[in-house]
Amino acid sequence: MAGSTDPAAFSSAAFEAFHPFGRQHSGYAPIADDSATARPYSGNGAVLVSGQQLTDMLQKLLDALGRVPVRENCEDSFSWALTTNGVFSVKSCYDFFMASLSGPPLDSKKILALIYLWKYKVPSKTLDFGWRFIHNRIATRDQLVRMGVLVEGMDSLCSLCMEKEESLSHLFLSCEITTRIWRRVFMCLDLSDLLTLEDFGDFFYNYEKIPCLNKRMIVANVWLATVWSIWSKRNAVIFKEEPFSFTECMSEIIFNSWRWISSFHN
Ligand SMILES: [Zn+2]
Repeated sequence: MAGSTDPAAFSSAAFEAFHPFGRQHSGYAPIADDSATARPYSGNGAVLVSGQQLTDMLQKLLDALGRVPVRENCEDSFSWALTTNGVFSVKSCYDFFMASLSGPPLDSKKILALIYLWKYKVPSKTLDFGWRFIHNRIATRDQLVRMGVLVEGMDSLCSLCMEKEESLSHLFLSCEITTRIWRRVFMCLDLSDLLTLEDFGDFFYNYEKIPCLNKRMIVANVWLATVWSIWSKRNAVIFKEEPFSFTECMSEIIFNSWRWISSFHN
């Protein structure tokens, strides 16, 4: 937003700024309404823009500047154009991008899973991980091969069992190493009357199968702690060359679950 600038001087200054060579350049020519009478502007002998083109461009600039209120004795400040009060809001930004995005609509079950996910007060990096998990956007080795980051073959094998291709469904749901983790967690939560082990692995698609809201909250936090711990331990295997430890993974799941469940009602 322009503040204390005089409108006339402002237009003149805008023109000076707009012209790539300024008034001191030898190729400078006055703006003409008729393109036939206007000389082209040049720098180092190259024709850059005709008088009519410059007039059109300048008019566009002045039109844009004309929409900005110019006030005397007022400090310049930034103003967010998408809200009436000029103050930035995430919602206005979200609405703007949503209006310009296109693509296939999400299926209703996935939308419900994502809405449910956002209720939880876990660290934002864990929440982001859960969001990418539901969208199948975790950088497992099959995805990295698809993007050309890794070479297909040995590079795409599961980092834990080294037997099957590392996909999201393999690493988190069917790998023999992590299946032991899921079984132990499932047993500790005593869920067998409500969910199958497969239901638990896809918990955010099956949360309504647990009628008690408090139990549902506990299971959701434990599920997030489980996928988060499996992923961090898998990364430690790759990047720190640490062996995968069932006991350490379970300890981390229990610790994070306790922390996040404790903070849920605060
Ligand atoms: Zn595996």
